[in-house]
Amino acid sequence: MDHFNYQNGTLFCEDVDLNTIANKVGTPFYCYSSATLVRHFNVLKDALKFINPLICYAVKANSNVAVLKTLAEEGAGADVVSKGEIMRALKAGIPAQKIVYSGVGKSHADMAFALNTGVLQLNVESLAELHQLNIVAQKLDRTAQVALRVNPDVDGGTHEKIRTGTAEDKFGISWQQIPETLNALKEMSHIELKGLTVHIGSQLTNLAPFKAAFMRIKELFLDIKHQGFPIERIDLGGGLGIAYDPKAPQPPQPEDYGKIIQDVFIDLPADFIIEPGRLIAGNAGIMVSSLIYLKEGEKKNFAIMDAAMNDLMRPALYDAKHALIPIQQSMGDERHLTIADVVGPVCETGDRFAKDVELESPTEGKLYAFRSAGAYGATMSSTYNTRPLIPEVLVKGENFAIIRQRINEEALIKQETMPDWF
Ligand SMILES: *Cc1c(COP(=O)(O)O)cnc(C)c1O
Repeated sequence: MDHFNYQNGTLFCEDVDLNTIANKVGTPFYCYSSATLVRHFNVLKDALKFINPLICYAVKANSNVAVLKTLAEEGAGADVVSKGEIMRALKAGIPAQKIVYSGVGKSHADMAFALNTGVLQLNVESLAELHQLNIVAQKLDRTAQVALRVNPDVDGGTHEKIRTGTAEDKFGISWQQIPETLNALKEMSHIELKGLTVHIGSQLTNLAPFKAAFMRIKELFLDIKHQGFPIERIDLGGGLGIAYDPKAPQPPQPEDYGKIIQDVFIDLPADFIIEPGRLIAGNAGIMVSSLIYLKEGEKKNFAIMDAAMNDLMRPALYDAKHALIPIQQSMGDERHLTIADVVGPVCETGDRFAKDVELESPTEGKLYAFRSAGAYGATMSSTYNTRPLIPEVLVKGENFAIIRQRINEEALIKQETMPDWF
């Protein structure tokens, strides 16, 4: 459930008319609902209350500091993948002891920053990384608290580009290399093994792969504990999918996901962490865009929007579908449906949001919302074609605030400098 609903034919975010925001900030823009973020966080928390996990929101899904603060106030921690994301989490008031640091390619400088910050744990993905972390920690005279990210070789059945859990993927330590890694770890003076972690992919719409991965990690946890390591934590990653198409079969609910976790872990005394991103932010955001032209072609029609692939990359990158709905519904006689491809102005054929969709009364200047754009939307945007980074707006009840200004052409070009030979 989210808080984007029609009131007398006009789309609102909570109690704010989206036309009001569009008039204030111009299009395109992202708009997020505080109430939806909070609701998604708490539904998940309730569904997992029997293991009472630390919920480390995956910052890469939507890293705006105001979004992070909204979740921090509910008690969220953060799952981060860079120094920049650590900085964002801290700025939002998330304590270092609620931050877990993931990623296959942490630089030495980023490791040092994380250790000096005092993050709860670093999720290590290879023996090479573990060696380096030991060296960095030694130099700083600190002990790195680590969880080993293991690759359970389980296919999450998701899009290939967001699959992370098979032996073909770059993520995690393979099952065969775990004994060797543990042996090496015993010799490392500045590493303390705290836990295990697994994350098999994103937008999973089937629970079976989760269950398979969780069973494997439980067995491994017990085995490692048996070997005498003072291991105490299991980090279950993120990945639960959301409904992008309200008409398609619905993905499993947090409750069902909770039941799987309960089944597997109920008898295991351990501390738990989870790292949801999309589940919390995805349906808490939309992207509002205006129709520039309806180009009526020979074979097809094209609805050319003012938003493009650089603003919302998921369709071009993952063939993702985002439902498109009008901000203002048409009534009675003016209502007609046109079939068109929905595209942006960028000079790429891949700059297409949807193919052959029914658009309600498309007229120039009409505003539409791309739904489910709260996760992996703004954070993946770029300035390709020297297009500005679009603003982000956060709504809370009757109030809204711009939480990132449009970063315009002038600001972009100003970053560039001319060599002195000109
Ligand atoms: C991206 C990522 C997540 C979040 O994934 P969602 O599908 O958004 O829940 C969690 N953990 C790790 C390690 C990730 O890379």
